Amino acid sequence: MILRAVRSVGRGTPLASLGVGPEGMVSPVDSRGGEPSVSVGIARETFRGERRVAVVPAIVPALVQAGLEVRVEAGAGAEAGLQDQAYEERGAAMVGSRHEAFESGVVLQVRTLGANPEAGREDLDLLGPGQVVIGMGAPLSAAEAARDLAERGVTLFAMELVPRISRAQGMDVLSSQATIAGYKAVLLAAEALPKMFPMLTTAAGTVAPARVFVIGAGVAGLQAIATARRLGAVVEAYDVRPAVKEQVESLGAKFVELPLEAEESEDRGGYARQMDEEFYRKQRETMTRVVRASDVVITTALVPGVKAPVLVPAGAVHGMAPGSVIVDLAAEQGGNCELTRADQTVEVDGVHVMGPTNLPSTVPFHASQMYAKNVSSFLLHLVHDGRIELDLEDEITRETLVARDGQVVHPRIREALGLDDDNHEQERAAPAPSEGART
Ligand code: NAD
Repeated sequence: MILRAVRSVGRGTPLASLGVGPEGMVSPVDSRGGEPSVSVGIARETFRGERRVAVVPAIVPALVQAGLEVRVEAGAGAEAGLQDQAYEERGAAMVGSRHEAFESGVVLQVRTLGANPEAGREDLDLLGPGQVVIGMGAPLSAAEAARDLAERGVTLFAMELVPRISRAQGMDVLSSQATIAGYKAVLLAAEALPKMFPMLTTAAGTVAPARVFVIGAGVAGLQAIATARRLGAVVEAYDVRPAVKEQVESLGAKFVELPLEAEESEDRGGYARQMDEEFYRKQRETMTRVVRASDVVITTALVPGVKAPVLVPAGAVHGMAPGSVIVDLAAEQGGNCELTRADQTVEVDGVHVMGPTNLPSTVPFHASQMYAKNVSSFLLHLVHDGRIELDLEDEITRETLVARDGQVVHPRIREALGLDDDNHEQERAAPAPSEGART
């Protein structure tokens, strides 16, 4: 089944001017013959402290070449060091207001309503039927926001739901932003630690290298290991998935072997499974020795869809040397350390426990560059001959589609909303997602 949802809105074209064409194709009444068929709007991000922007100037030519008209709210890239002039030089039209940027067929955002629950609410009135909204919206934890957007009639895509298959790697925002978080976590720790990271032999004596322990060696953890190694630290790491041992060692870190039965710890998609409480109790116990001997602990352990496991108990923190640092990248999901408080630094017995929740935004230039590549690759995947076509037989399109035609359509989000799904599944009538090739 190919459902085509096409909307093109010219500058100043009212959002309500839609007509329904043949084959379920939704087409706009567009009076501007000859102009690009779909306009793409990029507005300033409004979440508190958010410095990223959805599209960077370097990406604009690819969108224009695909037949899209790109309109950017003046100042949208300023926090990321990107000037309006740079967008204009690459072919974007600058518009003076948020309203004008949103008056587009497609709106690209870093954070849609679910990930911007307060300020994002003000955008609801700017959105209407037929528009396509693409961005990160925490769809599984903020299902109500998906419903609110669905009720506006928008077609909503969540970038977090891009399947981790080889052909979608360029669209994988979880990986691109986790890479930045892993890197920046190490810099935060290095800045807070009253020691240097590298070993130095000087006339003033020998300085021992910092000892860094990384818990969870997925995308963020591996980047943290690589960054800490580049700074000269001695790095150890543990992951519940034994398969990552080789990757950890290839980065020059030591994989910590724990006497735990972790054979069933990886699901078919390559993610960690939730283990039982007895497993986590043993893990906490057996890891305490390593935690206490470390100057820096970076925790990144997550299990999709559930609260992060608590792996560093208060007792282990009390045993660390004063001045030691814990950076908990799982803070937004509850934290891997018992003492973590989201977006705060807690000091206990001289140990600093940091719980940053938006580190990619602190590196806004490169975070935006990588995000823009992801989101534009996704958009171009939907565009054919200058128009948007939704092919629901395509795994990438189907798995990321959250809402259309006034309804939340994604099964997991419908489940989170408690919606009855017997009839809906038949309507969706799409093949089951394949496992896909992971790398
Ligand atoms: P994630 O953010 O869900 O979790 C981070 C890490 O925490 C994972 O490595 C996980 O195994 C680990 N973890 C969970 N519970 C733990 C515990 N109790 N103790 C220690 N560690 C624990 O994972 P992610 O970074 O998104 O990556 C998940 C997997 O997906 C990895 O295998 C990664 O290589 C793979 N991946 C594949 C693709 C692709 O094929 N396109 C892209 C990105 C990531």
